[in-house]
Amino acid sequence: MAQVRVGFLVDTSRCIGCRSCQVACKAWNHMDADKTVGKGVYENPTDLTPNLYNRIRFLESADDRGNVKWLFMNERCVHCGDAGCMKVCPAPGALHRTPEGIVVFDKEKCISCKYCVSACPFNIPRYGADDKVAKCHLCFDRVGAGRVPSCAQACPTQTLQFGNRDALIAKAKGAGKKLYGENALDGLGVVYALEDKPEAYGLPADPSIPTSIFLWKDVVRPLGILGFWGSVAAVVVHYVTYGNRQLEEDGKGKGGDAHG
Ligand code: SF4
Ligand code: SF4
Ligand code: SF4
Repeated sequence: MAQVRVGFLVDTSRCIGCRSCQVACKAWNHMDADKTVGKGVYENPTDLTPNLYNRIRFLESADDRGNVKWLFMNERCVHCGDAGCMKVCPAPGALHRTPEGIVVFDKEKCISCKYCVSACPFNIPRYGADDKVAKCHLCFDRVGAGRVPSCAQACPTQTLQFGNRDALIAKAKGAGKKLYGENALDGLGVVYALEDKPEAYGLPADPSIPTSIFLWKDVVRPLGILGFWGSVAAVVVHYVTYGNRQLEEDGKGKGGDAHG
């Protein structure tokens, strides 16, 4: 029987910006706090870090009457069905998918090339002092043990709803929610119910994997490597073909001088 794909339905209308999700993730993953400085904004930290796998974006906007309105958006790896990070990664097993559809990483296998950073449409992977990839792993360890991810467990408003992806989508659609990520990139594992256009939340309207990274990885870089090894080979061939003769000629020349 095919394994059920799990995922999150993030109902942004429910979020109160309490950041329990951020703290719960850090607690479960034993991650240190990041030192931050005040930047005059409510967000803290103001970006994902190697020690912060999810965070809340605070987005200020105006409603139709010009009144200030806040949008809260849980930023994290969205576990793309067609994952650019996995597609471009040259290290077998460094990024891989579990039977439940979760995109996980293995620091032991990561070779620090950072291709995944360039290939991610959502700017998610981060690298720390160990120079290894880090991102949300959808609590695959908890999920494998039949538990709910730590962030969803901690959320007091059920903004982060975890479970069978298809069932979550069906329920949200039944409630008339406007969904983001249902079909993009073969379906995101984290689908958002939005109250405004994606760009208002800092999400790409039409996410896609940048093709330039494949041009670099599959064409330009191999040609560069080929060029390097081609040069090495040319030197070796030249040495084998002419090097000894040159030495012999040099030797003859010297000998001639000595015996002359
Ligand atoms: S959001 Fe980025 S890091 Fe996460 S699965 Fe998609 S491509 Fe990979
Ligand atoms: S699913 Fe797990 S790893 Fe991902 S943000 Fe939530 S607590 Fe962190
Ligand atoms: S725990 Fe829930 S309500 Fe609180 S910030 Fe995170 S998603 Fe929003």
